[in-house]
Amino acid sequence: MPGRREQNTPRVASSLASAISASPDVRNGGHASADAWPIGVDLREERLFRALDDDNDQAVRLRDFERVFAEVGLKSHDKRLHDSLGLLKHRIETARQVTDEITLKISRTDFYQAIRHNILLIERAVQGRMVIPDFQGFANELERIFEQVRQNKAGAPADYIPQLNLQGAAADSFGMALCSIDGQRLSLGDAKEFFSVQSTSKPISYCIALEEHGAETVHRFVGREPSGAGFNEIALDKADRPHNPMINAGAIMTCALIGLGDKETLSPGSHDGLADARGWSGRRFDNVMKRWAKLCGNDLPRFSTSVFLSERETADRNYALAYFMREKNAFPNNVDIHDVLEFYMQCCAIELNCELMSIVAATLANGGICPVTGERVFRTETVRNCLSLMSSCGMYDFSGEFAFTIGLPAKSGVSGAVMVVVPNVAGFCIWSPRLDELGNSVRGIDFCQRLVNAFNFHSLDDLSWHSSKKDPRMNPIQVKARQVNELIWAASKGDLGAIQSQLQRDVDAACADYDLRTPLHLAAAEDQRHVVQFFIDEATHQGRNLDLNPKDRWGGTPLDDAYLQGHASLIELLEKAGAIRGDGTYGNSDDAAGAKAQALLDSPKTDELIWAASLGDIVAVRRLAAQGIPLETADYDYRTALHLAAAEGHLEVVCYIIAHGVPVNPTDRWGNTPLNDAIRHGHDEVAEVLRTHGGACREEETSMMRAKTDPAEARMAAER
Ligand code: GLU
Repeated sequence: MPGRREQNTPRVASSLASAISASPDVRNGGHASADAWPIGVDLREERLFRALDDDNDQAVRLRDFERVFAEVGLKSHDKRLHDSLGLLKHRIETARQVTDEITLKISRTDFYQAIRHNILLIERAVQGRMVIPDFQGFANELERIFEQVRQNKAGAPADYIPQLNLQGAAADSFGMALCSIDGQRLSLGDAKEFFSVQSTSKPISYCIALEEHGAETVHRFVGREPSGAGFNEIALDKADRPHNPMINAGAIMTCALIGLGDKETLSPGSHDGLADARGWSGRRFDNVMKRWAKLCGNDLPRFSTSVFLSERETADRNYALAYFMREKNAFPNNVDIHDVLEFYMQCCAIELNCELMSIVAATLANGGICPVTGERVFRTETVRNCLSLMSSCGMYDFSGEFAFTIGLPAKSGVSGAVMVVVPNVAGFCIWSPRLDELGNSVRGIDFCQRLVNAFNFHSLDDLSWHSSKKDPRMNPIQVKARQVNELIWAASKGDLGAIQSQLQRDVDAACADYDLRTPLHLAAAEDQRHVVQFFIDEATHQGRNLDLNPKDRWGGTPLDDAYLQGHASLIELLEKAGAIRGDGTYGNSDDAAGAKAQALLDSPKTDELIWAASLGDIVAVRRLAAQGIPLETADYDYRTALHLAAAEGHLEVVCYIIAHGVPVNPTDRWGNTPLNDAIRHGHDEVAEVLRTHGGACREEETSMMRAKTDPAEARMAAER
């Protein structure tokens, strides 16, 4: 299988073999005991350095370091990384004048210096511990969805505000941007085009009003129930309040509350140092813009005068709403409704693009802290209240349907913007001006629908790993390790309860690992009689299709395992149930005694590491090394990452593991070394590299012994 995400052109064995070294002072790479490390070194920084020093030449390629950030979705212009990368670039530039070779490398000292002031973010990037770990995979999926949605040409731009009635190609604009709570970014299509925020300003105005007055005061003037009517309907609730802050009447009310406290304390025309009532409206708008800027990661939103004027000229309905509310005594004292209406329309005419609005949404997803600046913009309770109302009232007359099918807090605006929040994960903005009859962007809704069909983002989706939808919070290797290896481990340990609970979660009893080993193989190998019985019952159960004779990498069936380990009563049990032998050629298990004695350490991420090695996923291997996962760690069959990388012919991973000081001759359950694997599968280059670094094997594959075939002998062995 080719490397999944590595973009390097694979280098040839000889150059790799000569490039890697495992000098005694750095043996054991990123996972050595502390005393094997250079004195005075910060272990945390050193671990990252070693994880990125692929060939152990005491330097990290600049390109590799930069690629780490691209892989996790951090942009080179990310303000947080700016200093670290800037410092490195400067040093590299200086070095470039001296020699060519060094231009590509970062020394240990420079690396330490560059990461020191940003260690937590950089560590999480190198370790792949961002909220969306497989960002490239996620981005690919979003691109696919985006292209599908682009085909949807239904709907028409809003025409009741003339400036919004885009024509021709402009009407077909389509952009999407994503910002995760870790600041991972993706932009597609017209994500840089500016548009007026319209009703997506409503949640922000509501938040500002909450910050100024608290929820109790704000909700004396505006309710929190869906209205069940159009966004600009002239209707109030039973207490003569607008139904909620996400519709026009409610947003006019929250706008009336913003800055009101200041206004009450101002002295008209003051010239004696006291705040002056004149200019209050301007200051209020400035303050709102400053808040938007903070929400956008300190980037400046724009303002569209023409949209504002266009809306003001056609705002009869909003004027009617305001007069109606004034007639009902709905406003606080001191409110001038003309001033409030203008302010409301100014808020609607603020302009953002998808990229900026995705940061706004991500700030809400992150509980009020902007992910790209780390600055708190709103209190957590403010954001919680806002997201609650976005969930129930944010999508016009489609809000109930949206909550039911999509299940995410969102707000749309008549400019075609949709701001969607996936709490604790990310913010999205989709912009496409064609609207449906309810006023929502057609493509915005389509995108959201496809998004939650593919990923378990609906707030009531099963958030655990066994949902049929993908969980972007986990990388695919983690998912595999959890679904497959945990079941196999449980079978090998005889944990029937765990097996049953996994199966109830739709994990496949016939699942197989990177060596095609199944739960039944391991239960048979480890003499777990009640587990074997359980699987026999499953196999004979009507409607279940469990094969009693799956073949592993070596052609062996579970019955072969029972024979090989000499479990006489299991052999009987399996044969009675119809199990048959395979043609497994494993090697000689007597030689494996040494392997078991070595009993390599298992660590919580052993399975992930071995899967990554078997897939040739060097990025994932590096990330696990950076987390300090021992690279020599072994599974239930004493198989290691080196075995699997060798078996699958992943030269780069083999070289990486060797360069990190891992012993080259670990033996598995059957006494096979990685060199055995490489030879068996005909990976000559890998075999050559292993031999160069001391690789040996018990015997060449040509003379591999078939697993003990004589049942009588196996029974005798068991009795002995
Ligand atoms: N400024 C628009 C209005 O008041 C906003 C409407 C909207 O986006 O829902 O009609």
